[in-house]
Parts: sequence; C-alpha cells; structure tokens
Amino acid sequence: MTSPAGGHGRASGATAPGGSPPPSFQDMWRDLAPIGRHAGSGGYRRYAWTGADTECREWFREQAEARGLDYETDRNGNQWAWLGDPLAGDAVVTGSHLDSVPDGGAFDGPLGVVSSFAALDELRRRGAEFTRPLAVTNFGDEEGARFGLACVGSRLAAGQLTAEKARLLRDGDGVPLARAMEAAGHDPGAIGPDHERLARVGAFVELHVEQGRALDLSGDPVGVASAIWPHGRWRFDFRGEANHAGTTRLADRRDPMLTYAETVLAARREAALAGGLATFGKVAVEPNGVNAIPSLVRGWLDARAADQATLDAVVDGVERAAREHAERAGTDLDVVRESFTPVVEFQHALRDEIRRVLGKHGPDGSGRTVPVLGTGAGHDAGILSASVPTAMLFVRNPTGISHSPAEHAAEDDCVAGVIALADVLEGLACS
Ligand SMILES: [Zn+2]
Repeated sequence: MTSPAGGHGRASGATAPGGSPPPSFQDMWRDLAPIGRHAGSGGYRRYAWTGADTECREWFREQAEARGLDYETDRNGNQWAWLGDPLAGDAVVTGSHLDSVPDGGAFDGPLGVVSSFAALDELRRRGAEFTRPLAVTNFGDEEGARFGLACVGSRLAAGQLTAEKARLLRDGDGVPLARAMEAAGHDPGAIGPDHERLARVGAFVELHVEQGRALDLSGDPVGVASAIWPHGRWRFDFRGEANHAGTTRLADRRDPMLTYAETVLAARREAALAGGLATFGKVAVEPNGVNAIPSLVRGWLDARAADQATLDAVVDGVERAAREHAERAGTDLDVVRESFTPVVEFQHALRDEIRRVLGKHGPDGSGRTVPVLGTGAGHDAGILSASVPTAMLFVRNPTGISHSPAEHAAEDDCVAGVIALADVLEGLACS
C-alpha cells in the first residue's frame, strides 16, 4: 500500500478546526501497518483485549484527537469519534473493526476504519455543512478470534448477547473475557445493552474490503451490500477411547478421528449438493499425541447459505452423516450450536439512497449503476441492522481471498472507496 487518497493528504490543507492537517490515508495506513503483524507469517494477530488490540485502540484515539473529534469508549469497549453533538440524535455513523483473525490480512476491518476518517477529512475539504452528527467507530472483538464468538462489541450493544454470557466466554488458554477486559483496562462490570446510545444513531454505514471476487468479475471498484447470508458455528464433539497406537488392533478401536474425517467429507458433499458453504477450519484433539488414538476430537463447523432453508439442509445433512458414521465406528457425538446469525437484509431505503448518490457522482465519474452484492461474511453492520438502519459498501479485492495476508485492495480502489463513502456520508449528513 503506498498512497490511497494520499494526494489529498497533508498538502491539501484539510485541517481540523484549529488544528494541524490530519494524517492522510497513507499516514494512517503506515502507522497501523506494523501493529500485531507476525514477522514469520506476515499476517496480523490483533486479538481482542491483547497488547496489539490496545495499540490499535490507541491509534484510533490519536486519529480522533488529530481531527478535533470527541473521543469516547462505550461500555462495551467500542470506540467512537464524534463530529457534532453525540446526544443530538439521528447521527450518521461509519466505521468497522481493527481486530483480526489469526494471521489475517491488512484490509479486513482497518480499510473501513481508515476510510471512515479519510472520508470525514474529504468532506471537510469539500467544505460540507453538517446537518447531522457524524461519528467514526471501531467495534471491538468483531472477528471472535480469541473468544470464539464474532461481533461481541456490537452484539452486547444491541442486546443480542447478555453480559453474563459474554463475561464467561473463554479464550484458548482458559482466560475469561471478563479477566482479559480488565487486564486491558476496561471494566467488565459495565458491559451490556446500550440501547440509549444506539437510539442516537440514525444510520450506520460500514465500508469493507470485499471477501470474494464479485467486483473483480464485474469490473467495479465499489459495490453496495444487499444482504448478509444466514450463518453460524456448530461444535461437534466426537468421543471415543484413548489407546496405544502400536498395540490396539484396528478392529478394537473406537477412534473419533475417523468419524471426524468422515464428517469433514460429508460437510463438503452436503454444501455442494445444497448450494451452500460448509467448513471445518478448527479442530482440537485429546490427548493430541502422535502415538495415541484420540479420546476426543472437537471440530467446529462454519456453515453459511443464501437462505435459511439451504442452510438448514446443509447443517442437518452434516449432522445426519456424522451420527451415521459415529454409530458405525462406536463413537459418541454431541453437537452444540455456538452461534447463529439469521439472514440480514440491509434496509432497502438506505441502500437505494446510497445507490442513487453513488450513481449520480459515480466513484469513477461514470455515473453508472453500482452493483449490489450479497455476502456470506458476518459484520457488525449485520448485528446493528436489528437496531438501526445499516448499509455496507464493498471495495474490490482482486484476489478474492480474505482472512489471509493475500487479501488486497489496489490503491486506486481504496481511493474510490473513500470518495464513495464521502459521497454517501455527504448525502446523509450534510445539507
Ligand atoms: Zn471484517
């Protein structure tokens, strides 16, 4: 990444009231780039309430201050940077997240936050007159990489996750979320629904790098989201009998690894048959010894589909196959649904308004129709859509790869994203 929107940076005179010029997109990107980056993999390990997360949060606060915005952290650890009166109501809010999956890419999350600050700078450069309060946000613990549940910050705020349940979430080392929060300086006693705050939000717009290749295939730098597919996580516990790998006859084994392996194959088959997606991407084995038949194999199924009936068909099919194989192998199976998000249709009125604004200005000046895309990935915008009108913009990702250092957005497309977001915010928040 060299200089997305960099041409409009320090040299442009886009100063915060009474302050020096705000950091350009390029400056922001450069400052954020080393935080939580693993030297070996080149990927990011910015997990909730860790040192890297704290550094990202500090970066956010600095960006707010550099622009003379009112900074606050809400009771659930989400960060807000306000232009205008936060209490006035009907605010236009834009932002995304700064945490990452294990060895994630640079763009998933940070592109939305950096673009939000850059879009606000762009509006100031245009001399826009704001008629509604505007805020940039960083929602905490979006990826769920550490505690296993995605979008914890927005779920808590929207009342879709109780404080009691959240405090009991544990990371891989058994550390409860409450203790991790406390260690990072946030009061876990304060977490819970924040309806009053969300009631002040009139619209939430999240810009995000696309996590597929639809825009690359259509040849568009920016698209608008139609819906987030229903999706969830299911934990499959396969139990058998631990025994010696060298002395136990094949016929005498109750090997849960075999049942797990058959289930992975079934997931692929069921997803292909139904037209959905199913993935076992995480597995834990006990006792996890090279020369031991496992006693327990715990696999997590991530399943998604364009509609609920298809998703049900995939998950039911995988569970049915798993039970059949378990019976044959003499192993036991428990299936627990750990999280689920129903289909999210983004508000049509807001989406149509965004398409109208972008069609008029056109991120590339052509004024052509902006593509509307569905997505299989969950986002804070999806969680918040139950409480406030929400919309999403996607920026082209030529690799189509996501949750990997290979995810990418070209410099010109990042600029197009910032301009598109500024156009949208101007249409919503300015006279
Ligand atoms: Zn994301």
